[in-house]
Amino acid sequence: MTKQDFNDGLLGFLDASPTPFHATQNMVGMLLNAGFIKLDESDTWELKEGQKYFVTRNDSSVIAFTFAHARAYTIIGAHTDSPNLKLKPNPVIKEHGVVKFGVEPYGGILLAPWFDRDLSLAGRVSFLDENNTIKDALIDVKKAIATIPSLAIHLDREANNTRSINAHTDINPICTCQVDLTEESEAFDFDAFLKEQLVACANINAKELYAHELSFYDTQKASFLGLKDDFIASARIDNLLSCYVGLLSICSVSEDTPMLFIASDHEEVGSGSTSGAAGSFLQNTLKRMFGDYEEFVKVMQSSVLISADNAHAVHPNFSTKHDANHAPKMNEGVVIKVNASQRYASNSRTVSRFMNVASSLGEKTQNFVMRSDMACGSTIGPITAAKLGIDTIDIGVPTLGMHSVRELCGSDDAYSLYKILLGFAH
Ligand SMILES: [Zn+2]
Repeated sequence: MTKQDFNDGLLGFLDASPTPFHATQNMVGMLLNAGFIKLDESDTWELKEGQKYFVTRNDSSVIAFTFAHARAYTIIGAHTDSPNLKLKPNPVIKEHGVVKFGVEPYGGILLAPWFDRDLSLAGRVSFLDENNTIKDALIDVKKAIATIPSLAIHLDREANNTRSINAHTDINPICTCQVDLTEESEAFDFDAFLKEQLVACANINAKELYAHELSFYDTQKASFLGLKDDFIASARIDNLLSCYVGLLSICSVSEDTPMLFIASDHEEVGSGSTSGAAGSFLQNTLKRMFGDYEEFVKVMQSSVLISADNAHAVHPNFSTKHDANHAPKMNEGVVIKVNASQRYASNSRTVSRFMNVASSLGEKTQNFVMRSDMACGSTIGPITAAKLGIDTIDIGVPTLGMHSVRELCGSDDAYSLYKILLGFAH
């Protein structure tokens, strides 16, 4: 696969995956195409060596694996969620001539970039169908239906110096005009709107709506950017880029290559959920793969986890935010992340293995540690390493604007990571 084909596929995946549910649905489609067999957690599993399988949880996390005779697994971990504005259960607010939506920030979101964007809405809706069965379905409105207008500078002369953003009052997207708010016949009906979306997106007539997990997203498409297409600009590069790279890797190896790929939900809020990395999904799956405890521990001790999550590239306008000796640059290779307090799980042995594979392929790597006077972020790496006792390395593609509504990475680095992951597995 050429770098151009690889990157074109990445852009398509980013655009088609506005929520973890959609990302999981798209990954499932790719796994089925690649011949993976679907497993259900509530069924009995009868795994056969030389086959490849996948299983989902909550429709927002996925594990795919080859069931190989050899047991030294390369496990690739990523996460399906990204910071966003999540719709509240009773979202409709009618005031000042408009209808707006109440939202709750999800994850460590950078709020300022969400202003003045053309926003759409996507996610999961749960409902009673025509046969009185509770079901759920995914919707994606696709067109721009809302925006969060900035406050004009004339009304806040200090905006460029002191503006802060109140997450409760300042970021409610407006979606339609309703001049006479007392006129019920003209009133915006949110349930009717959702029912229309269920018809349009899933051809479903819902009798009654119960609950939803819907998020706003920026409708601007992912694109190449720069004089020489140096960069990729998109929403959700953290961490759908790593999902895409990990997924393509496992789809590219043969059935007898021991590899497992996991993409978990809820990393941006600490991973503590049934479908998050602190939950039981991976452990349950591994225990079912390797029946007895002796075998399970042996496999964990001979395997390695590559936790793939984006890394902070040095910002050319804010370079002092990095340690000068550990300032990764875009298009200069995959970043190896180290932290003395184990916010990253890399150790000298796993780093050495990763560097050895990269250099044997002629791929560059870079090092990152946080400045010693700043707090370090974390990933699914340390959580999984602690639970399973598996040797782990935290790596990722250097990225700018992380947790913004639009992030930026180099157009060489994801492909380089893909090549290293394939090299690692062989
Ligand atoms: Zn991330």
